[in-house]
Amino acid sequence: MSNFLNENINKMQAYVPGEQPQDKAYIKLNTNESPFPPSSGVVNGLTEKNLQSLRLYCDPQCKVLKNKLANLYGVSDKNVFVSNGSDEILNFAFMAYGNKGVYFADVTYGFYSVFAELYNLPTTVIPLKEDFTLNLAGFYGRNGLVVIANPNAPTGLEISLNEIEEIIKSNPNGVVVIDEAYVDFGGTSALPLIDKYDNLLVVRTYSKSRSMAGARLGYAFANQKLIQDLEKIKYSTNPYNVNSLTQLLGSLAVDDQKYYEDNCRKIIKNRLFTKNELEKLGFKVLDSKANFLFAKSEKITGEKLYLSLKDKGVLVRHFNKQRIADYIRITIGDEKQMQTFIEKVKEILGE
Ligand code: PMP
Repeated sequence: MSNFLNENINKMQAYVPGEQPQDKAYIKLNTNESPFPPSSGVVNGLTEKNLQSLRLYCDPQCKVLKNKLANLYGVSDKNVFVSNGSDEILNFAFMAYGNKGVYFADVTYGFYSVFAELYNLPTTVIPLKEDFTLNLAGFYGRNGLVVIANPNAPTGLEISLNEIEEIIKSNPNGVVVIDEAYVDFGGTSALPLIDKYDNLLVVRTYSKSRSMAGARLGYAFANQKLIQDLEKIKYSTNPYNVNSLTQLLGSLAVDDQKYYEDNCRKIIKNRLFTKNELEKLGFKVLDSKANFLFAKSEKITGEKLYLSLKDKGVLVRHFNKQRIADYIRITIGDEKQMQTFIEKVKEILGE
C-alpha cells in the first residue's frame, strides 16, 4: 500500500500512554491518576438540563471556568488558558514557540520529544546530572523554547523557584514552559513570576490532584500576550477544545478546593509511608515531590519487578529506556493500596 504520511511523522515514534488494561481489576499505580473520586460537587454536578444542552456548542471562551480559576489563583481572567488536557497546551507551546529550537532534559515527560519530532523542531536534549537532578546551566542562554517539568517526571525531583527564575532570566528571547502537572503534591509553583517575566508559561492539569484525568482538562497561566498566542492556535485548530460538561465540572471542582487539598495531604502522607517501607527493603528511592515515587532495587531488575507486580495484580510503570531501566515508577494511591503494594514487593523479594 502507498504511504502518504509526511516523512517526519512517518519516521517518528508516537507517545505511548501507560497501560489501561481491561482484563482484570488491578491496583492501578501506573499512570499517576488520583485514587480518590472527584468531589461530591463534581460527582453530583450534572443535571438533565446540562445533558440536554449538549446539542449546543460549548462556550469557546470558557468564561466561567477561566474566571473561577483566575479567582482561585489570584490572577486576571486574561492570564488563564484552558485546554483539552495539559498535553494540548504543551502541544500548542511546541507549535507556537519551537522554531528557534527546543530544550528539555533527557529524562523527563516523554511527550516533549514527541512534539519536537512532530513539528520537526531543532532539538537539544540536556542530560540530567548523574543523580538525576537538572543540569541548570545547560538551560541558560538558550533563547529558544525551554521546557521543564517541575517536579520532574518520572523522577519526582524539583528545582527551586530561584533556580527557575535564573533560567527564565537568562532566556529573555525564548519562552520557558514550567510544566506543573505534579506541583500540588508539595512542589513550589512558578505562578508568582508570571507578572514579572513575559516569557513564562506555567502549565497545570486537572488529571492528578483534581481526580479528573478522564475529563481532559488542563490550564495555563502567563502574561496576556502568551495567552493570546495560545488562543490563536486554539482558534486555528479546535475552538471548542474543552467540552461543555468538562467546563462545568472543572468549575465545580474549584468550589471544592478544600477537598482536593485534603487529598493531596493524604497522598503526601502515603508517599512518605511507601518511601520508608521501600527503603527498609533496600530500595533507592528518589526524593519525590509528586504523586509517584521512582525507585530501584539491587535485588531485582526494574522489568522483572514490574512484571512480577503485574502478575500479582499491581500495575506500576517501567520505562525500557537508557539510564532509567532499573527503576519503576509507583503512583501513590490510598493507604490500603500502598500497603498491598509493599506486601507484594516483599513477597516478590522473598522477605
Ligand atoms: N505533564 C506531565 C509531566 C505529565 O506527566 C502529564 C501526564 N501524563 C501531563 C503533562 C499531561 O497530563 P494531561 O494531558 O492529562 O493534563
